[in-house]
Amino acid sequence: MSASAESALKRGCVSLVGAGPGDPELWTLRGVRRLEEADLVLYDALVDVDALRRVTKAQCFCVGKRARRDSVPQETIHRLMIRAAKQGKRVVRLKGGDPFVFGRGGEEVLALAMAGVPFEVVPGVTTAVAAAELAGIPVTHRGIASAFLVLAGHTSEAVDTTLRSVRPNTVSMIILMGVGARGDLASRLMAHGWSADTPAAIVCAASTPDAWTWTGALGQLGDAAPPAGLAGVLVVGDVVRVREVLVNASRPEQFGKEVSDGRN
Ligand code: SAH
Repeated sequence: MSASAESALKRGCVSLVGAGPGDPELWTLRGVRRLEEADLVLYDALVDVDALRRVTKAQCFCVGKRARRDSVPQETIHRLMIRAAKQGKRVVRLKGGDPFVFGRGGEEVLALAMAGVPFEVVPGVTTAVAAAELAGIPVTHRGIASAFLVLAGHTSEAVDTTLRSVRPNTVSMIILMGVGARGDLASRLMAHGWSADTPAAIVCAASTPDAWTWTGALGQLGDAAPPAGLAGVLVVGDVVRVREVLVNASRPEQFGKEVSDGRN
């Protein structure tokens, strides 16, 4: 093997980079540097493509779910990353939020490790914290909540198992992938003893121009009508009240559009 082929092989690697909630200003410096140096970028559906093209000259492929097109199967993503890295390419796998929070990032690095491909993880700003935060809701607050629980809302069995293990109304509950099932999730929480008047919020498209927030009571969560097609998190707990104080004391637009408040 020639020296140049050998050095090309040596630099092949994969960086799993967290892209944060949407706004490219929330990308990390390290993440941006990896994008600048990349030969190939495989990105998720919610990534800002214009910003991506400004930062990198790499070949960019969307492997996430897009309108009228299914996402690329997980095994294919693994294969693409491994093949490109073995050809000596610097690959960035750009994932929404943080790569290791509900993003199958763990599976991706396991596949890379098994294939002997050098990899690194570049953490990102997770929507599990940032979505609520950008709407003026701290996930913890002294005297109100000293813990928060991040839950995937799309598998009801797992939700029930988790709800059995926490005392109702003792933590802030942050539910990802749960906007579609919000009515069912609210009923489950109440069935496990959470009171119907627990403050609740839906925060959609946080950090993007489409940002949309609803606040109300847990019992009314099912009746809220978030715009279709936006990613969103559900927040349940007394911390939601902090938003009301902030909104009343400051410019409301600072914390996203207040569309309705079901508690009035
Ligand atoms: N790894 C990601 C989560 C991936 S699961 C992270 O750390 O944030 C996808 C879920 O993330 C969506 O169903 C939604 O609940 C949430 N999400 C992603 N982008 C969002 C945004 N801009 N605003 C609110 N929630 C968002």
